[in-house]
Amino acid sequence: MRRILLGIWIVAVVVFFIDWGIVGLSLLTGNYEVQAGIYVGLVCMILIFMGVFYKLFVNRCPYCGKFLFFDETYCSSCKKEIQR
Ligand SMILES: [Zn+2]
Repeated sequence: MRRILLGIWIVAVVVFFIDWGIVGLSLLTGNYEVQAGIYVGLVCMILIFMGVFYKLFVNRCPYCGKFLFFDETYCSSCKKEIQR
């Protein structure tokens, strides 16, 4: 399940950059019909923020409750192995 969520998050980041690249190019070439591109970009931005909030508030050590930012195998605080 975690891998699926991480996959969705990575796709959202990639789509986000590609999408804003397309929107930026469209605006540079004088094409202002970019509403759809902006909506896609905003949805991706929400997904990215949700992923970051998940990391910040849900991804904690089950033993001591310390926040884990990088999916460490061992908790940096209590040194216990984290089962995933
Ligand atoms: Zn811990």
